[in-house]
Amino acid sequence: MIICTSCQSGLEPAAVTSHLLNVHKLKDICLTQDSIDKVCEEFKIPASLPSIQGPLPEIEGLVVLTTALQCKICRTVRGSLSSIKKHYSQNHPGNALETIDVTAQRLSQQPPHNAYFPVIPTNKQLLTLPIDLNLLRTECDMAYVSFISVDVDKRTISPWLLTTGWHTHIAGYDIQKLRKLVEMPQPQEALLSKLEKGTTAVMQRGVELMKDTPLLVLQKLNSPDPIKEWVVLSVCSSLN
Ligand SMILES: [Zn+2]
Ligand SMILES: [Zn+2]
Repeated sequence: MIICTSCQSGLEPAAVTSHLLNVHKLKDICLTQDSIDKVCEEFKIPASLPSIQGPLPEIEGLVVLTTALQCKICRTVRGSLSSIKKHYSQNHPGNALETIDVTAQRLSQQPPHNAYFPVIPTNKQLLTLPIDLNLLRTECDMAYVSFISVDVDKRTISPWLLTTGWHTHIAGYDIQKLRKLVEMPQPQEALLSKLEKGTTAVMQRGVELMKDTPLLVLQKLNSPDPIKEWVVLSVCSSLN
């Protein structure tokens, strides 16, 4: 099943592009139905969303509702007290309201896939990043000091510089100011330290995703930098 990570809803393959366009207003997205179909074929994703009764283990990616209520008579799950009351009056008139507290999910907020089903919550054991910002800051400072103390031949063109073209990006700017901008934030810089939480959360999410990332993608990320090959090629072609 395809799940939109933004709104945490299941999507039918044919509805992906219209969902991104209409719900998330992503006008410039380059995603063809053909490429979606290829992915679906590779991962054997069916054309329609499944019909789930539950209980089943929590489906990662979908919204989890921990305060859902299940009807004791017919096992229907609803997301709120008012909704389960309505269910009782329509389906079990004359019966006293009896519910079970359950954790539930649903495939989508839109009919016909908006029915809740009970799930068994997974115990999320977060992989925590052992980041010590002060240590990182000290290490960066030490690395910088050891770098500037090395006698660098200024005529040497570094492959890194050739690749990134940084000298063309920063031409005309005050180098001292630019250096200040990329320094590690100091404790007194309150606004920047707010970013710390967000950045750590993003990195944390990345670490969590690693266990679900296909092996091929991990291998690709871990393989030698293809840009470096491009540098060799571009240097060779400029020599020719
Ligand atoms: Zn979405
Ligand atoms: Zn019922």
